[in-house]
Amino acid sequence: MSRWKFLLRCATVDMELKSANQHSVTKKLREKSKKEGCEDLRFWIPSIKNHLWWCCASCNGDYADLKDKWLSLLQHVCNIHEWASADKFHKCSHNPLLEDMHEIEWLTPGSDAHDALRGVVMNTKLLKDMHKMTLFKHTGSLQVFHGMLLKYCPKRERFSYEGMRARHQLAIMDHNENVGRQQATTEEGTLRFGLAFPKRKKQWVLKKIYVDKTFEFRKRLMEMVCDRREDSAIVLGQRYVDRPDLPTNIASSEKPEKEDAIEDFRTRFLLS
Ligand SMILES: [Zn+2]
Repeated sequence: MSRWKFLLRCATVDMELKSANQHSVTKKLREKSKKEGCEDLRFWIPSIKNHLWWCCASCNGDYADLKDKWLSLLQHVCNIHEWASADKFHKCSHNPLLEDMHEIEWLTPGSDAHDALRGVVMNTKLLKDMHKMTLFKHTGSLQVFHGMLLKYCPKRERFSYEGMRARHQLAIMDHNENVGRQQATTEEGTLRFGLAFPKRKKQWVLKKIYVDKTFEFRKRLMEMVCDRREDSAIVLGQRYVDRPDLPTNIASSEKPEKEDAIEDFRTRFLLS
């Protein structure tokens, strides 16, 4: 068992950077939208967040393409959907806008709100970071894995090193077998969706329903256990997991004397 390699079929760090940037862009825009004259910015925040995602997803690893698409946002928010100023990307990719455009809070070029947006969009650090966002690797699968890991390693229970390791391995096998499942369809072949109301978004969102999970890895494991039982070269009770040298706890500084800690507590809270 210890010779097996357990690799998660999922994410890398690049999209964490993208998510971090999405978060930082959203946070900055929220702050700016609180300033007088910049209130209209707040209507644009969800779209701008989605736009950053779309730029990364559609740039095919090309930084110039990603940057042009990102900067095009400054035109679109002003109801300008074609321009000549960019190198690669000269018009929006969306379909022609419908007639009810009057409901959109378009910004005016040169207004306080637009200038504030320009400051965030053209932030030097963000534009530099975009080099690392072109590969569009996302951490969605990793988050799903961490959620599912709790099924195998509940946080409220304590496990031995071997137990914890085996439980992680089972979670990884479960994850790898089920990652990338297809969207489920009805008998007529229509794609299945469900509606959910996430607390954070505070609105109904459409969610794909996927085909059921499978657990073939359990069957394979049981077969391997039987094979091992019949293998005369394997001795009962022999350890197959190398146990590394583990510290007794995760503390990064030396444990203080309890009397000193109590004295310190008394002093801080002025207890007699
Ligand atoms: Zn547009």
